[in-house]
Amino acid sequence: MAARTPSRTADRSAAPPSDPRPHRRSGIDFQDVTVAYHGTVVLDGFTLSVGPGEVVALLGPSGSGKTTALRTVAGFTAPVGGRVYLGGRDVTGLPPYERGIGMVVQHYALFPHMRVDQNVAFGLKARKVARREIPGRVSEALELTGMASYAARYPRELSGGQQQRVAIARALAIRPDVLLLDEPLSALDARLRSDMLTELARLHRELPDVSMLYVTHDQIEALTLADRIAVMKDARLVDCGTPQQLYRRPRDTFTASFVGGANLLPVIVEAGGGPQGTPVRLDGTPLRATATIPLPAGRAATLCLRPHLLRIVRASDAANLLHGVVADVQWRGATHRLLVDLPAGRRVVADLAGPQVPVGPGESVVLGFDVEDAILLGTPPDGAGRLSTPARGGADG
Ligand code: ADP
Repeated sequence: MAARTPSRTADRSAAPPSDPRPHRRSGIDFQDVTVAYHGTVVLDGFTLSVGPGEVVALLGPSGSGKTTALRTVAGFTAPVGGRVYLGGRDVTGLPPYERGIGMVVQHYALFPHMRVDQNVAFGLKARKVARREIPGRVSEALELTGMASYAARYPRELSGGQQQRVAIARALAIRPDVLLLDEPLSALDARLRSDMLTELARLHRELPDVSMLYVTHDQIEALTLADRIAVMKDARLVDCGTPQQLYRRPRDTFTASFVGGANLLPVIVEAGGGPQGTPVRLDGTPLRATATIPLPAGRAATLCLRPHLLRIVRASDAANLLHGVVADVQWRGATHRLLVDLPAGRRVVADLAGPQVPVGPGESVVLGFDVEDAILLGTPPDGAGRLSTPARGGADG
């Protein structure tokens, strides 16, 4: 990756994507933070605020800089530019042990020769907490994570999920204002991951003042837990908003495909938008969509259609019709997934609720959608007419 000029981020509605509330000086504040290894920028002008009690997920593909961002908060990585604030205090130059934060990583990192209670007490002793206070603090943290009855066990006597709870208890025992979580569920199997997600959501409710920064490449974790999601790509923050904002109004094709599945179709803007939406043309077909930023006539853009917002309609319906031929029907339990070939070699995916679908492979079908569900993105898609399915889990509906 070539070194780049650090960029300052601004409001979500303006050109450079970013955190809408920068420089608030509470919880965690990254201000224009840049990290480089051997001259290669791996975190580029990163600006983000995590409010007190807020959970922000850093979501992005492997290598996009998520862990690096987290490590600058922990104090394990020193930025070459910018500042990091905790609770309004500039901690950029402070060593990790003076930052008072809790951290949970993917591989629990418990001491195998220590009992659960000793593992949890370890950080307290290291911080020179008064001896008489330690048992109470250990119990409190184990209660919080549902591990009180396992205090005398050794890590080898615990399941992966239980070990991760102990790791969380250890991080919480120091009563941090800030909890950093780096892919905390990736070592667990799907069932445990789901249980732990519920647990983390409960902890978030029970610790309303603790700010959490949660690194993940799993959109389900981000959508489930986070108050806001910060999307990262190639060392930069590329989008930031509530899960609902990012899902319903993604800024670009990357966010659209990374947060939920999306049909991304190349269109040409026909004219400026009005109350009935912006007229566009997909190959020969006139459609109307919702533009989140003004797009001039003639501009190449991308139509983002979520699969579950498409439905089968009659050809006599007024507008926003996609005529195609069913290539396949896949039963997915609660929904049927229809793969529909459109003219010009494009394919769209529609997820239809209900026990049956009225069409089968080889039959003609007409799909329809509402103008407000068709989001117009200002950049052309990378691959014409493809469905972007998420890396894991699948929130495409
Ligand atoms: P993510 O957490 O999104 O997977 P990271 O923040 O771990 O990404 O890494 C971002 C980039 O920085 C990657 O290209 C990675 O190889 C590089 N990187 C991370 N740590 C180091 C290091 N200690 N030395 C050199 N390069 C590193």
